[in-house]
Amino acid sequence: MSQPFLGYTNDVDKAFPGIRDFRVTVTEDPGGYYVRDAAQRMNVYTKGSAARVHRCANPQCQQGGLDIQRLVLFSGPGSHAISCPGHDGSPKGRRKGDQCDNHFDVTIEIERE
Ligand SMILES: [Zn+2]
Repeated sequence: MSQPFLGYTNDVDKAFPGIRDFRVTVTEDPGGYYVRDAAQRMNVYTKGSAARVHRCANPQCQQGGLDIQRLVLFSGPGSHAISCPGHDGSPKGRRKGDQCDNHFDVTIEIERE
């Protein structure tokens, strides 16, 4: 299930203005707590296969993961080390639990038009 880019468009050309293509490589869970198979800890997103959100591998994680579009538009090219912003509180978010301990290493390459 995909959410609209920036909340209002599913058109990737509108979602990523001026960007011909990009490649976002996400490596998560370096300790192997949630994803046992090392090959599955790495995911690659391009403009053609972009998901709005990269979901956190921690099954307890709430409101975590990475906003791929925000990373491309606002973080820009390079390497980024990002702690998961999620927490393991209740699904409705009434009680905030401990911060999610998952971690993402993100490499972004952008080809501009
Ligand atoms: Zn998380």
